[in-house]
Amino acid sequence: MDKKERLIWLTDEVNKHNKNYYVYDNPTISDAEYDALYYELVDLEKELGYSLPSSPTNRVGDDVLEGFKKKKHEIPLYSLNKVKDFADLNKWMHDMEKESGKKEEFSLEYKYDGLKVVIEYNNGQYLSATTRGNGTIGEDVTTQVKTIKSVPLTIPFKNRLIVQGECMMTNKSFIEYNKTAEIPLKNPRNGVAGAVRNLDPKETEKRRLDFFCYDVLLIENKQISTQTEMHKFIINEGFKTGDFFKIVNSIDEAKEEIEKIDKLKNKLDVMIDGMVIKVNNCSVRDEIGYTNKFPKWAMAYKFKPVELSTTLLDVAWQVGRTGKITPIAILEPIELSGATVSRATLNNTQDIERKQVKINSRVFVRRSNEVIPEVMGIAEHGEHEKDIIAPSLCPSCGSELKTIGANLFCVNHKGCYEQIIDRLTHFVSRDAFNIEGLSEKTLMQLHKEFQIAYPYELFKLNAEMLKKLEGFKDKKITNILSSIEKSKQIEWSNFIFALGILNIGKKTAFVLSKIFNSLDELKNADMQTLTNIEDVGEIVASSIIEYFKDVDNLINIQKLFDLGVVIIKPEVKETNANFTNKTIVLTGALTNYTRPELTKILQNMGANVTSSVSKNTDMVIVGADAGSKLDKAKALNIKVIYENELIEMLKK
Ligand SMILES: [Zn+2]
Repeated sequence: MDKKERLIWLTDEVNKHNKNYYVYDNPTISDAEYDALYYELVDLEKELGYSLPSSPTNRVGDDVLEGFKKKKHEIPLYSLNKVKDFADLNKWMHDMEKESGKKEEFSLEYKYDGLKVVIEYNNGQYLSATTRGNGTIGEDVTTQVKTIKSVPLTIPFKNRLIVQGECMMTNKSFIEYNKTAEIPLKNPRNGVAGAVRNLDPKETEKRRLDFFCYDVLLIENKQISTQTEMHKFIINEGFKTGDFFKIVNSIDEAKEEIEKIDKLKNKLDVMIDGMVIKVNNCSVRDEIGYTNKFPKWAMAYKFKPVELSTTLLDVAWQVGRTGKITPIAILEPIELSGATVSRATLNNTQDIERKQVKINSRVFVRRSNEVIPEVMGIAEHGEHEKDIIAPSLCPSCGSELKTIGANLFCVNHKGCYEQIIDRLTHFVSRDAFNIEGLSEKTLMQLHKEFQIAYPYELFKLNAEMLKKLEGFKDKKITNILSSIEKSKQIEWSNFIFALGILNIGKKTAFVLSKIFNSLDELKNADMQTLTNIEDVGEIVASSIIEYFKDVDNLINIQKLFDLGVVIIKPEVKETNANFTNKTIVLTGALTNYTRPELTKILQNMGANVTSSVSKNTDMVIVGADAGSKLDKAKALNIKVIYENELIEMLKK
């Protein structure tokens, strides 16, 4: 191979690995090996004095552009009409079928919340990229978009082609970028706009964007007759597409899919704000046509927003059951995901500093499904801003606060009122000891009357004592006492949760209960053992270790047992109607379990866990980046279970 041939070979080879890494998420060589090939190519190009048009080294231009050139779109870009609810969507689907005079298929895809870009190819080569702009005129971002590794520089199709898609920053890239960024990005969407519309293409490259392609606007000498065909064509040309594409035939099917994605959307690696529904058949589309603003044959279903901005009015400092002090933002109330939000967590003082929020700032607030609302960052600085000052004394008991890691703690565990009440409330809650009748108000009364401060003391309560409380009649007293008695038989995972270990939520408690068979096993687990568990990072692991190091905690646990608490361990073979005797296949990466862990759990329930999907498979459990097994399950119409559903099903 002479040098010229080597240059051609290297160009192809590096492009191939780029595609494996960025498009298929399936790198086949190490980063170091990749770098070696890449830099050999750079050197060889320098030596020979030229590079091929498709060379990966052309992705970053060295020049900083003066300003963006305006560019007229050859095909004007329409926006999408929107529906707010399923009734309107149903009506629209019916209207479409009325217009065409027959039953229609509809395609369903993600509606991305990124930056729309149009890319042109000719002769199989990347030619240009333009932002949407106002739909008629956009900005020329050819150099910037070229740095996006999932944009192919060459494609098999040789005629003219214009595609449309969305530049996105995945959550993974967002978190990575913010780790080292001087000024953290507020959210992935802002990250995209600032990266593509950046005069320095090097900055675009740094943010490691992705391009998701979903539309062919112009194609020469080829007929595409449905959206399904278009989707396949896009994939075959080497573009990245979302992992969701479905054909639905009725409003019921559409509703089922949309509701499923709505629940799941916060776990996706990209931000989507709704779904796009289109008439699948392109010739029907031509008949139905356009208004002057949008195609009549396409519709967007918008999810209720999960992120909005509002004014931060004040900060309250809340003392939790472990003594951790959490700053809570008091907000100008907003409607978010169907609820009024007036408080959101600011996590800790380090986070406040990092996010640069102040009192009277306008801030982004995000509310995800199961998580409490969180202040994500500054939207806009306001007038009369004031710094948020952390207290030095506990707002509840007045003792001096200690800084441990990123958090402030009140270490007066015995005498701090808010800590005591929160600790007791946690202990009696449904996923812990589940003692009915002990409301927060009752617990406050109990503390006032009998100085009850530790959970075990609840098991010392008797009728004589309860009679002394205001408003306690015989019936109420009997109910509470029988509820307390009943709670003494407690399930293992509830017991772990009830301990109130810092950073251990009910999901983690559940996972731990499946891994460790007894309190002694959990108590003696070392760092290595704990961090090997999928759901457990170093912070959680050290919280567990610290908890069991504290002699007071051990004494308090022993007192529970002395007062009659018994942990009920699930039998080695529990039955669970969802899984017992079912044939199950696992695919993709799950967040809460490794595959061996989940396999063990399911096998204990009498499930048959197999590795390939067939018509005998009862269900496929799907994690992130699921591949061909998911496709096969869908093709065979086999039940598909996502992780959030799985967790619910495991509890039954
Ligand atoms: Zn305190």
